[in-house]
Amino acid sequence: MAETSTSRRPLIAANWKMFKTPAETEAFLKEFLPKVPSDLNCDVVICPPFISLGLAAALMKGSSVQLGAQNVNENPEGAFTGEISPGMLAAVGCQYVVIGHSERRQYFGETNAGVNKKMLAVLKQGLIPIVCVGETLAEREANSTLAVVERQVKEALLNVPSADTKKIVIAYEPVWAIGTGRVATPQQAQEVHLAIRDILKDQYGSLTSLSVRILYGGSMKPDNIIELMNCEDIDGGLVGGASLKSDSFFELINYRQRKAVER
Ligand code: PEP
Repeated sequence: MAETSTSRRPLIAANWKMFKTPAETEAFLKEFLPKVPSDLNCDVVICPPFISLGLAAALMKGSSVQLGAQNVNENPEGAFTGEISPGMLAAVGCQYVVIGHSERRQYFGETNAGVNKKMLAVLKQGLIPIVCVGETLAEREANSTLAVVERQVKEALLNVPSADTKKIVIAYEPVWAIGTGRVATPQQAQEVHLAIRDILKDQYGSLTSLSVRILYGGSMKPDNIIELMNCEDIDGGLVGGASLKSDSFFELINYRQRKAVER
């Protein structure tokens, strides 16, 4: 039977960035985890800072919520002061890792080539990469959004073994919408998500293109998630600000139930 878009399970991931101490992480999870129903029909991932990963893994044990990291070094081990390897993330209980977030590209000089190294290392370790792509405001205004995103996607996925392509999660995050309160319209987001799916189809074929989950990121909130999730090619969200409070993150992951109530 032909695979259809409806077979993609939604994924909502919290990117906590450099927020929350271990004590704050514990307080959040103790409030949040008991509310998460086991039949949610949506994957939920929380990406705290490195120092809270072990604690979060212990608290999440037995829940349906999964753990992710916000960054990784591509080397298996070595003299790389301050860095964390894919094997270390797996050992502490991570299933996912965010790579190439625009803040890492902007403030820490990450390039498409560096993101590709991380991608290959993460997949080799059996972790699921959430690779971030997206244009700046200047690039959008210069009408180069699709060209920028195409390059980011193609270069991030260079030499990925074909058996691994379906596992990859891509987050389309227009830089001008991250942390700004300015959200892409559903039409703007859908246009880029569809373009990404077309790139995947050209490079890897229909099955990969229909299987890869493409998340939207950029000021996603409880009051805009439903219209974004109604778009054919938006399969979830990577959420910064609105994931920091347990109530609003719960409203986000529970968007399908809220939708039913609102009707
Ligand atoms: C992010 O951190 O990836 C993000 C999208 O942040 P925000 O939701 O705050 O815009």
